[in-house]
Amino acid sequence: MTDPMTLKLDDCRALDAQDPLRDLRQQFMLPEGLIYLDGNSLGVLPRAAVDRVAHAVIAEWGQGLIRSWNSAGWFDLPQRVGDKIAQLIGAEPGEVVVTDSTSVNLYKVLSAALNLAAADGPGRRVVVSERSNFPTDLYIAEGLCKARGLQLLLVEPDDLSAAMTADAAVLMLTHVNYRTGAMHDMAAMTAAAHAAGILTVWDLAHSAGAVPVDLNGVKADFAVGCGYKYLNGGPGAPAFVWVHAHHVERFWQPLSGWWGHASPFAFTPGYQPAPGINRYLCGTQPMLSLTALDCGLDAILAAAPFGGMAALRHKSLALTDVFIDLVNQGCAGHGLAIATPLAHGERGSQVSLSRAEGAYAIVQALVARGVIGDFRAGDASGPLASQLDILRFGFTPLYTGFEDVWTAVEHLRQVLESGEWRQPAFAQKNAVT
Ligand SMILES: *Cc1c(COP(=O)(O)O)cnc(C)c1O
Repeated sequence: MTDPMTLKLDDCRALDAQDPLRDLRQQFMLPEGLIYLDGNSLGVLPRAAVDRVAHAVIAEWGQGLIRSWNSAGWFDLPQRVGDKIAQLIGAEPGEVVVTDSTSVNLYKVLSAALNLAAADGPGRRVVVSERSNFPTDLYIAEGLCKARGLQLLLVEPDDLSAAMTADAAVLMLTHVNYRTGAMHDMAAMTAAAHAAGILTVWDLAHSAGAVPVDLNGVKADFAVGCGYKYLNGGPGAPAFVWVHAHHVERFWQPLSGWWGHASPFAFTPGYQPAPGINRYLCGTQPMLSLTALDCGLDAILAAAPFGGMAALRHKSLALTDVFIDLVNQGCAGHGLAIATPLAHGERGSQVSLSRAEGAYAIVQALVARGVIGDFRAGDASGPLASQLDILRFGFTPLYTGFEDVWTAVEHLRQVLESGEWRQPAFAQKNAVT
């Protein structure tokens, strides 16, 4: 503790005092005494959502009933919430709709991308992705490839360039890896894919609201993302979908339901796709969930006067830097390794720590102390370093402070030093990890 470089609690308090974003935390209902480092899995409750959702239930549903599709603005809520998301991901108004789940939206955009590729010639029969991509992305791609007689090629990050051949139709990547927090250079990857005649599908599940994204700037082709993580839309909040303006009207997406019809209430026979991104809707949308998500987005857009996503990113990197420094300083000798890239340009808004044994129990011991992170199992089929289990900590700059980081690492240090994680109760696995 004589090292002048050592970060102390007072230093973290000083960082909080200087933080221009610190008051944004008041927008959320955070349980007293809890340090929540899992906003990358389920975001917290925006205070405004409590009354807004109650109003949607009691007044809009209870009293307005069917009239609320018009009078409460239900009908165009997927577009209005989409326009708010557009501001966070470099899209234009009218280019994003909020609907369905990330998995379902991925099915729609990957289908459209494959149709687009096939229209340019029959030669490209491969979908390229990363072996370490989020499983549902790969399951969806696997199913689509099987149905169309295509090949799904899964490679390690370093082998992506080599996989961009004349056989490849689509490069489907998640911008920020859910296990490691490693972030792709979206501009460079998209440019490399396009140079090889390949379309790109980006999953922004761990990016939207967490790191700056510029879909039109990088000329991406298709993107999807999640509403319940950094966007704080609530459990099972609908996801979003974006398609580049050049492509959006070239094809139907395969789930050609009535909400994606040009005039859903004409009840005419024969599908006519709606213009623009509206054709990516399928059936009736979940108004209560959309209402909650709308509040989550308002809470992020409240950062606009302070610099918006750039300011959030600046704080997120500062939080993850402090976390990494404190772990290195306080938890050395306990078998933890930082699994997240140290380079800022390669890091999302989380830090993953790997450990040969006990990762699950350590996370549980932290939860018992009121510090919530989560556990992800090692990547058994991956390269050696990725086979270790992961303790995962998400840092949401809207409501996480530097003192929270200090306290969380202090608990981690105590859990490791005391060995309390070895208690049998912490080894019991739940259905959802
Ligand atoms: C969280 C997440 C999903 C979630 O998909 P759902 O369909 O909402 O369950 C999909 N892809 C990635 C990369 C994710 O991180």
